[in-house]
This record gives sequence, structure tokens and C-alpha cells, in this order.
Amino acid sequence: MSSEFELIRRHFDRPARSALLGVGDDAALLRPSAGMELAVSTDLLAEGSHFRAGDDPRALGHKALAVNLSDMAAMGAAPRWATLALALPCADEAWIGAFAAGFFALAERHGVDLVGGDTTRGPLTFCVTIFGEVPQGLALLRAGAAPGDDIWVSGELGGAALGLERPDIAAAAARLHLPEPRVELGERLRGLASSAVDLSDGFAQDLGHILARSQAGALVRYAELPKFAPFPDRGTELRCVLAGGDDYELAFTAPQAHRGELEALGAELSLRLTRVGSIQRGEPGLVLLDESGAAMPVPRGFDHFAA
Ligand code: ADP
Ligand code: MG
Repeated sequence: MSSEFELIRRHFDRPARSALLGVGDDAALLRPSAGMELAVSTDLLAEGSHFRAGDDPRALGHKALAVNLSDMAAMGAAPRWATLALALPCADEAWIGAFAAGFFALAERHGVDLVGGDTTRGPLTFCVTIFGEVPQGLALLRAGAAPGDDIWVSGELGGAALGLERPDIAAAAARLHLPEPRVELGERLRGLASSAVDLSDGFAQDLGHILARSQAGALVRYAELPKFAPFPDRGTELRCVLAGGDDYELAFTAPQAHRGELEALGAELSLRLTRVGSIQRGEPGLVLLDESGAAMPVPRGFDHFAA
């Protein structure tokens, strides 16, 4: 059985390319580029709440980083560095090696250095903190939506939630276990989008964060929402598309004048970008219209502490 230090050295100590000092000392040393602001975000994944015992460790390594990259995307920040805190019930080398492989494969694709962390015995938990850079004043905030702005969604909604209910549907399960954070889109939305949020807890709830922060309402047509397909029935579709978590797509708002540029951007990135509604003056609530134009109930998204 390896010691804690041996485990760290073998699996997590990779040379940092852009940090001044990475793993191995008491702290990492980072130098943000001139004119940039640091964007910092933490996400914790705990067994039972976010994943199941027995899930593929390589996919867990991917997802632990992906959910943090998604927060950088939602801010319009370029991810640069990450730290990883791990609690493990035992030192299973094969498991840790697969977890690290999933983590580093995604980190390398996005030019992220793992610069530190902590490793301890305990119930399986991963906590990543990510550090990104965004040019001064250009971060995409939740608070910037204005009446008249279009509401856009990247990719398709509901696949991850379907994957949780129906692990036998392979494409849906892949959406749940191997989410693709929209990092490039986020960076390219600087100067185009007026606000953005990543979809971790369901479209209706996460769009609600933009509405609350921007003090504005929204009108969304259900028929326009880009949906993972096919769903086995309408009830499942409604639940997964409107309230399903874990898609890690972006919802963002933009002035109507940017429609052409956003359509061109979607084509360039080979990423579906769909206009689903508009920001309204008034109360910060979502009005959802069904296919006949009638108002639909807005379901609640995921909440760890909901009664
Ligand atoms: P300290 O006791 O000073 O906190 P540790 O012994 O916990 O240091 O960690 C030694 C070094 O290994 C530190 O640089 C720390 O950031 C790094 N480290 C520990 N665990 C991990 C991990 N899971 N991933 C990346 N780096 C890690
Ligand atoms: Mg420590």
C-alpha cells in the first residue's frame, strides 16, 4: 500500500506549464497575465449526492474538472489552473490512476495545470477549485440581462437527467457522465452576451438566477427549447428538459443586434445555439408558454436541501 505522498507523486504531480510553482511545496505560485482579472470557483462532488459508488473512476475524474470548467465558461473566463482535494476511503491504485487519467485528459485539452490539492482518507469526495482569467471588465455576469435581450441556450437540454433515469440509453448516460463544458463558447461570448449562467440544476431554475440578479422577467416558448432526443414520453421530456440537472450547457442573454454574430459563432464552433425567448421588463419570473401559447407551470430544479 502506498503512502499519501507516494500516491500524490505518482498520480497527481505533473509538471506545471504555466504556473510559477505547482505541486510539491506548501502552496502554488500563480501569476495572472497583465490586464486580466482572476475568476475563481469551487465545486464539490460527494458520493450519494452527485455520483454513485461504482461509477467509472475515469468518468468521475473528467466530471470533477468538467463542472468547474463549466463555471469558467459561464463567466467568459479562460481556465488556467486548478487544485484538487480528494477524500478516498482506501488507496486503490487502479481506481486513483483511472480517476487521474480522466482528470488530466480534460485538463490537457483546456490547457489547465493542476497546481496543488489535498489528499485524505474519508468518504469518497472530490473538490476542485479552478482559477481562470478574463480581461478586465469583460466577465459575463448573471446581472447583465436587459429587457428586449434574446435568451439563448447551447447544445441540447435534458440528456443528462434522462441518463440518470435511464442508464440503458447510452447517449443519455454519456451526457450525464462525460459532460462537455462549453469553455470556448464562453470565451467567445465576451462582448456579445449580456449575461450567462451554466445549466447545472435545470434550465428553469438556472435561468431564474439570471432573472433574479438582473431584476427582469423572461418569456420562453417550450417548443423552441433544444431537446435531447428521443424521450420515451412527454412527462419525462418535460421533467428532464425544464428541471433536469447536469447538462452543463450555457444559457445566456444577448441584445437582438448580435443575432447574426451568434448564429455565425454557433456554425464556427459546430455547436447548436438556439434562441428560446426574450427578457421582459418587470417581475423577475419566468413565463413559459406551451405549443398553443398557453402558460405552463414552471417546475423546480434540483436543490440539495429542498424539503
Ligand atoms: P501540506 O501538508 O503542506 O498541506 P500535503 O502533504 O497535503 O501538503 O501536500 C503536498 C503537496 O502535494 C502540496 O503541494 C499539495 O498541494 C499537493 N497535493 C496534495 N494532494 C494533491 C492532489 N490530490 N492533487 C494535486 N496536488 C496535491
Ligand atoms: Mg495538506
